[in-house]
Amino acid sequence: MNLPSMPLADAWNPGSWQQRPALQMPHYPDAQALQQALGTLGQLPPLVTSWEVLSLKQQLAQAQEGQRFVLQGGDCAENFADCQSQVISNRLKILLQMSLVLVHGLRTPVVRIGRMAGQYAKPRSADMETRDGVSLPSYRGDVVNGPDFTAAARVPDPQRMLQAHAHSAMTMNFVRALIDGGFADLNHPEYWDLAWARQSPMAARYQQQVDAIRESIRFMQTLSGAPIHNLNRADFYTSHEALLLPYEQALTRKVPRHDGWFNLSTHFPWIGMRTAALDGAHVEYLRGVVNPIGIKVGPSVQPDQLLRLIDVLNPHDEPGRLTFIHRMGADVIGDKLPPLLRALKADGRRVLWLCDAMHGNTESTGNGYKTRRFANIRREVEQSFALHAAEGTRLGGVHLELTGEDVTECTGGARELTERDLERAYRSTVDPRLNYEQALELAMAIVDYRHS
Ligand code: PEP
Ligand code: MN
Repeated sequence: MNLPSMPLADAWNPGSWQQRPALQMPHYPDAQALQQALGTLGQLPPLVTSWEVLSLKQQLAQAQEGQRFVLQGGDCAENFADCQSQVISNRLKILLQMSLVLVHGLRTPVVRIGRMAGQYAKPRSADMETRDGVSLPSYRGDVVNGPDFTAAARVPDPQRMLQAHAHSAMTMNFVRALIDGGFADLNHPEYWDLAWARQSPMAARYQQQVDAIRESIRFMQTLSGAPIHNLNRADFYTSHEALLLPYEQALTRKVPRHDGWFNLSTHFPWIGMRTAALDGAHVEYLRGVVNPIGIKVGPSVQPDQLLRLIDVLNPHDEPGRLTFIHRMGADVIGDKLPPLLRALKADGRRVLWLCDAMHGNTESTGNGYKTRRFANIRREVEQSFALHAAEGTRLGGVHLELTGEDVTECTGGARELTERDLERAYRSTVDPRLNYEQALELAMAIVDYRHS
């Protein structure tokens, strides 16, 4: 029998993205070494499980309905050297502390998603970087090449994909162990303390919230006459930009008892603004995986583009499947966001909206640092809430770049960091992150705004 051949658009498989224009891909000089590394990667165990992926999708579906608030945060780019116990536990702590502030202040359960355990690939605006007349390939994240400005470091090395998998697994293993061991136990919020933060201008307010929460837990336990279960467990999910498609493909797997292909390198793969073209390789890849997926939406995106992305990425209007992460910038969000919200509301299909208050607010200082002002980040979050409310849509959460370390990369905040402070502890190899205090302050600002 002669079966009609399927149109290309329907013939998805984990490698079908290779038929489309793939932006932001490194050029590996040794094709054989690349195939060898991918072969090994394809045999290694995955980093997350299908049932975790499905439970996150369910939680995101609840966030779409306003029953949960999403906190997605972490480094712009992780690097292998920072795969250390203190850095990981501090990052987990700040996310848990922020979520505690949000749960308490918004009276809503929070979905916690760390941009971690795999956030190793970065899109770049130029393929080459030139310094003092020397041109080398741009740094594309530790999964691709090294940040040092030397020819050797900048050659894309496929072995780095295996290292990225190993570092993600070590990070994941430690996070899971901390959470299983009671690190997130709500009966012991004092475990969530970060030593140096006691000197913070935000410390008193945070302590009051911790005390209030502890008091309400005691009250509930008294009422029920027994310890409340589930308080000692915090669900925690991971996300990263699904940029390096050969890596993602090698970790795209079938599992027993569930239909479809899962990306098991992370719970929540998202694609950035530069690779969100409808006919591009990244959209083709994400189209076929079962995971919940996110797409960054910048100020140049038109309503029609979003509707066509929904056609391709969520044709059956599945709850929890599709998240749009808008990243407009505090100065333009008032103009750019409402037409998108209106069009999607009129269309009626389900999406979850998150606000990335970082990437539209990046600027360079006179002394050459890439920075962001706390006031602009805060303003973009506040405007997002207001604009959604005005259009009858819902802001379901925030997407932030932050660290649990005491860095000085963004200016402003309660400690009023200035451009001069940036010289003191600027550590990011890519984008500037909120430090511990600024991140906690932003969580409190969100709560204040909701109560104003
Ligand atoms: C990022 O989230 O680090 C990023 C590069 O975002 P965007 O694609 O929105 O610029
Ligand atoms: Mn970034």
